[in-house]
Amino acid sequence: MPGEVDYYETLGVSRDSTQEEIKRAYRRLARQYHPDVNPGDKQAEEKFKAINEAYEVLSDPEKRRAYDLFGRAGVRGGTAEPDFGFADFGNIGDLFDLFFGSGAARTETPRAQRGNDLRVDVEVTLEELAAGATKTIQYARFQTCSRCEGTGAEPGETSSTCTTCRGSGRVRHTQHTLLGTISTVVTCPNCHGEGRVISRPCAQCRGEGRVRNMVERSIRVPLGIEDGAVVQFLGEGDSGPRGGESGDLYVMFHVRPHERFEREGANLRTKMTISFAQAALGATVKVRGLEEEIAVDIQPGTQPGTVIRLPGKGLPNRRDGKGDLLVVVNIQVPTHLNEVQRGLLRQFAAACGERFTDVPEEEKSFFEKFISGLKGERS
Ligand SMILES: [Zn+2]
Ligand SMILES: [Zn+2]
Repeated sequence: MPGEVDYYETLGVSRDSTQEEIKRAYRRLARQYHPDVNPGDKQAEEKFKAINEAYEVLSDPEKRRAYDLFGRAGVRGGTAEPDFGFADFGNIGDLFDLFFGSGAARTETPRAQRGNDLRVDVEVTLEELAAGATKTIQYARFQTCSRCEGTGAEPGETSSTCTTCRGSGRVRHTQHTLLGTISTVVTCPNCHGEGRVISRPCAQCRGEGRVRNMVERSIRVPLGIEDGAVVQFLGEGDSGPRGGESGDLYVMFHVRPHERFEREGANLRTKMTISFAQAALGATVKVRGLEEEIAVDIQPGTQPGTVIRLPGKGLPNRRDGKGDLLVVVNIQVPTHLNEVQRGLLRQFAAACGERFTDVPEEEKSFFEKFISGLKGERS
């Protein structure tokens, strides 16, 4: 997301840094910029706040995943229908809430690695989100290998317990230093933490247990969805290697700007131009709604900028049915008048008590002739 705060930058860590590295960076910076250490220093205070905000997100694996996928832009709200798609998401108020609030927490170092979450962006029109539509999305995704069914071993071959770690997936790493012996537990380099090794890897996936395919999915556009709203499809992301749990797919909806309508939540705003005569005398005119033409009554004496509200002609809104269409009235002042029109308007002005002192001589004579002509007709 261009121009926005980068939490990794704030903490001075790389995007693939471990939780431990993030924690260390945070502690160091927090000590440096703590308000107690910098009394009265506004800049340090701001920095301290930024560090805390970054740490709050990056220190939580679930929040961090959400941030990696969507940045802070994903935080913007949106609503989806409760019956939509594969996941029961209900109301997506806040992406972060949705990631952090509920659901089983995933362990940080699973034995079988979980597949990546994937993101697909979909552009929709106002017409589509008003009437409902189905979109086809295509994306590349790792899927369980059909040859080995995800085991990574050639059919008929089996995997065996790793001899390096004896199946635990971890090995103790001991270092002798001047300060003494330092012992740490690390992931087994032989089986990469899985505890089992394959004697003959599958020919199709080269032992990974998954292959990358282009897949196609039909998704329904949730009625009235907000720009930037995200819908989660559980298990539709990458399959994990060798039978690991699948990640999820996140579809972010972008609403394309419309040439005639501005959106205000479930309401739509549009402009309509009427003539001076229609505004003054009143009229029934047609306005182009999103889905149909609507007859609108213009009251006599309607002023420019008047907003006419057409209830229920806006976008679907989950709670109240439908929003309204707001029509802003613009009154057109004619730019080209012929002589007859000009004469009539002068007559009109005269009837209103307005006087034209700057009328060119030849027009005045025409005007006078015109008036006298009308008088002649009447007598
Ligand atoms: Zn395979
Ligand atoms: Zn091992």
